[in-house]
Amino acid sequence: MTANLTKAPAMSCRGRFAPSPTGPLHMGSLVAALGSYLNARHQGGNWLVRMDDIDTPRNVPGIDKTILRTLDHHALHWDGSVYYSSQHLEDYEAAFQTLKTAGALFPCGCSRREISNHPVNSARQPGQTLIYPGTCRDGKAKQTPLRSYRLRVASSPIRFKDRLQGLQSDCLINSVGDFVVKDGHGQHHYQLATVVDDQRQQITEVVRGADLLASTARQIHLQTQLGYGRPVYLHLPVVKDALGFKLSKQQGATAIDDSQASQNLVIALTLLAQQPPGDLTSLTPAEIVQWGIYHWDTAPLMRMPSAALPPTSAN
Ligand code: GLU
Repeated sequence: MTANLTKAPAMSCRGRFAPSPTGPLHMGSLVAALGSYLNARHQGGNWLVRMDDIDTPRNVPGIDKTILRTLDHHALHWDGSVYYSSQHLEDYEAAFQTLKTAGALFPCGCSRREISNHPVNSARQPGQTLIYPGTCRDGKAKQTPLRSYRLRVASSPIRFKDRLQGLQSDCLINSVGDFVVKDGHGQHHYQLATVVDDQRQQITEVVRGADLLASTARQIHLQTQLGYGRPVYLHLPVVKDALGFKLSKQQGATAIDDSQASQNLVIALTLLAQQPPGDLTSLTPAEIVQWGIYHWDTAPLMRMPSAALPPTSAN
């Protein structure tokens, strides 16, 4: 196998993998890492790693190192130094102030329970995103505590083309309503932080799991409000277990075993519909990744929202 099978460098492509350091990688997160890596490297582009660590109570101390070790064992080597979101709080605050000055935000005093009990949410299932009913849009009652700052959304749909999931149209006022960018304790939220980080890291292609497809319209709305460019979006199939549940840290998905890196990579390539030949497992992780870069093809992934783990592999 030759050392470099990538296309001619197209330095304009910059991809990223942004794990939350809340637990070790599982097969679902390895698929997201590998998919974003192959997509960037196939185009001769850069691949960056960002620790999405602003949700501090959920962070597990030291797990960032475990995640990076797993990436290393699987020959997923990143460019530059690892970006820690928690070191960029002043950038989120600057973006927040820009939105505030533009009159795009409003203070909100609604509790989660009040929003959940509002009739607009009567048909929502547990775990579904709640719709904000617009209660404080025209002013928060003075006696209620400040619980969050919300970004106003428009009634016109946000349309975008996901490279894998096709044309999307999301009317934010109906799907989520005005959404939180910062809470009453001063903590900036994921949507704002991600948009600022993607801009700061000059990401051109966001490749991640399809569970985040529903966040994309909110992120595009933020990019528009902040005057940022829009990256290309590719949402990869979500990996599900044999019972059809998405693999997640919360559900205790099995951590990736670094000593089985070649086998793990072949399973991940299969879940990404790349049809690796069976004997690929006898190669080193670096050789398997090279095979993946060379053969990377998104066509078999088109409109595939999920992929099921083979019954024999751990979940
Ligand atoms: N940190 C998020 C996760 O682990 C991914 C965020 C993103 O890719 O935008 O699911």
